[in-house]
Amino acid sequence: MADRTDIKAARAALGEVLKDMRAGVAFTGAGISTECGIPDFRSPGGLWTRNRPIPLDEFLASRAMRTEAWRRRFAMEEAFGSAEPGRGHRAIARMLADGRLIGVVTQNIDGLHQASGVPAADLVELHGNSTYATCLDCDTRYELDWVRECFDAAGGAAPDCPDCGGPVKTATISFGQAMPVGEMIRARRMAQQCDVFLAIGSSLVVYPAAALPLEAKQAGATLVILNREPTDLDPYADLVIHADIGDVLDGLHGTPAPTER
Ligand code: NAD
Ligand code: ZN
Repeated sequence: MADRTDIKAARAALGEVLKDMRAGVAFTGAGISTECGIPDFRSPGGLWTRNRPIPLDEFLASRAMRTEAWRRRFAMEEAFGSAEPGRGHRAIARMLADGRLIGVVTQNIDGLHQASGVPAADLVELHGNSTYATCLDCDTRYELDWVRECFDAAGGAAPDCPDCGGPVKTATISFGQAMPVGEMIRARRMAQQCDVFLAIGSSLVVYPAAALPLEAKQAGATLVILNREPTDLDPYADLVIHADIGDVLDGLHGTPAPTER
């Protein structure tokens, strides 16, 4: 394991890994979006300390909790709705476009990988997407604007599904909610097939997502962890970089693969 905190040394070491990467996977967490103005969960002052996430059972138990969840979602839209992809997102989109990655697996729900040009077919959203909603009972999709209209028309109350009366929730995976089966299968397949697994901006404590780096490593991939703070998986990585994601990745994607030279 090589641990680099010096940016220049870190970029050089990562450049060496990327030079030979032909079938990489970028696995991202909230840390890649902090430079876009979206706070992560577990950094000091992160969302976790201000708003404990609402688990599924509490969401289902009362309309008051559903209303609180939607109130928070609309507040987030006002604060972060206009966020743009950052240097990390752009570097990953470029690696994918260059044919160096077999896919991108994200725990994020902010839609910024798509906004940076990653096609849906190459992206696995393990924890869903907060930019639209679904009925938890019949799966009908609803747009946030529609939820907002209903919410306001009801004097500030979470709406039910007009089709079946079920609860309407952002299309995200809350704590206590089952992981999406198809997305997990795609993510695990990518982890097992990649030659380099880049874990970027994740505290690697939310399972089962956090099992993917070790699955990749066990299947023979080179494991790189790029995160400002140490993670529990650092001892298993081939390269650990404790530095700012944008500073490290900016411009690095351009290294051509040996066969393209
Ligand atoms: P996390 O908050 O647990 O960990 C983020 C990590 O990123 C931290 O260890 C932090 O040190 C690091 N970090 C933050 N900014 C960084 C930067 N600029 N450079 C380098 N490292 C940086 O996030 P997680 O592991 O993704 O797990 C949290 C869960 O919360 C996920 O399920 C995710 O879906 C959700 N979440 C998503 C968003 C989003 O979509 N943007 C935001 C907050 C939380
Ligand atoms: Zn319904």
